Amino acid sequence: MKFQCLRGTKDLLYDDLYYWYIIENKSKKIFNNFNYQEIKTPIFENKALFEKGVGQFTDIVSKEMYVFQDKKNRELTLRPEGTASIVRAFIEHKLYSHNKLQKFWYLGPMFRYERPQSGRQRQFHQLGLECIGSNDPFIDAEIISIAYNFLADLALDNYYLEINSIGENNDRLKYQEYLVKYLSKYKDELDVDSKNKLENNPIKILDSKNTTIQKLLENAPKLSDFINLDSAKHFQQVCEYLEELNIPYRINTKLVRGLDYYNNTAFEIKTNNLNAQDTICGGGRYNNLVMQLGGPSTPAIGWAMGIERLLLLLQEQITYRKTQIDFYVLTTDKFSHGYALNIANKLRHYGYRVEIDVNYINVSKKLKKATLLNATSAILIGETEVKEKSITIKWLNRHIQEKIGVHELDTVITKMYKSNL
Ligand code: ATP
Ligand code: MG
Repeated sequence: MKFQCLRGTKDLLYDDLYYWYIIENKSKKIFNNFNYQEIKTPIFENKALFEKGVGQFTDIVSKEMYVFQDKKNRELTLRPEGTASIVRAFIEHKLYSHNKLQKFWYLGPMFRYERPQSGRQRQFHQLGLECIGSNDPFIDAEIISIAYNFLADLALDNYYLEINSIGENNDRLKYQEYLVKYLSKYKDELDVDSKNKLENNPIKILDSKNTTIQKLLENAPKLSDFINLDSAKHFQQVCEYLEELNIPYRINTKLVRGLDYYNNTAFEIKTNNLNAQDTICGGGRYNNLVMQLGGPSTPAIGWAMGIERLLLLLQEQITYRKTQIDFYVLTTDKFSHGYALNIANKLRHYGYRVEIDVNYINVSKKLKKATLLNATSAILIGETEVKEKSITIKWLNRHIQEKIGVHELDTVITKMYKSNL
């Protein structure tokens, strides 16, 4: 039997990880600047947490969750997203009692049973943040600016921000009545998915990528006409703050997030550089979730980005520089191994990346290997070097060879290394 990665999962090899760490390091820096703390929650949780926290009628819960029973017949789920777990942790550890405003970031694997395509996997990774404890529109604008500036920091281009207000639950319920009335007239033109949503979760039809449905929606009642005054004011202020923060945005009145717990601000950052899966970041306000999961009424807002989509964009836009070896230490006979090992370790101690080659193959083959590995220099060690307590350095890109004493290795090597780069 030939073993392979399961459909929708991927091994991350060193080329991918090169970009992965650009993402991880830059995001850590920016989260730190904004005083966000890291949080790591378990990868599996009670199924009920997501049913309650994400919503039974969402695609995620109704179609995409990995659900299994453990040996005690508990219904568990591989987490499909991060927010519900973080809110659970916030409530479980009574984090609200330390500080009213809690700011978290996370990075980790998520699991959704979807049809795998470019930028869409069954195990994928999300980078996200949650700001729990404030309803200030400034916070909405600030977290959006973190996402936006992070993408700029990655040197990505061709992305844009779309925002909308989805109001409060009551507004949406009222709106849905009108929407259902309108769409029911065109039932025959609806696809299966939208027909189901018409019964269970009509507002999600606005999200449909089906062009026939999008056309139908052009003359449908508009959610923006049903938004209460406070929500409209909140939205107005978010937009003003975004302008002050120099974050360009487009209002998309059909943008509704896929999850039930959102209210007021909803936003997405999309790119023109990916064909199908063009949403890099999705987020919004969820003032009702903490209470819904059994905590004190606490407003909150957050976003999540798909790492795989960021990797695709980065791989396209930034050329990968292969890791270089600094020193390739090789022996020229079989009597110098111990000495060579010590030299290699000394260099490692100074912070260099060192490979050692003590195979009994000839020297020119070893030098070829050093070149293949893109080493800056080869260090040749044989009987003479051992006797003299020296090393011979061959700077491979400049074809220069020189000898130095081991006692001066410490002082000379950095200087030489820099001038031979
Ligand atoms: P989509 O419309 O692409 O399915 P979504 O609304 O389901 O997205 P969210 O739940 O808001 O996505 O997740 C936030 C981000 O996580 C997405 O914008 C995307 O970048 C990423 N993401 C979601 N599902 C997947 C997946 N199956 N594979 C890879 N990345 C994903
Ligand atoms: Mg999805």
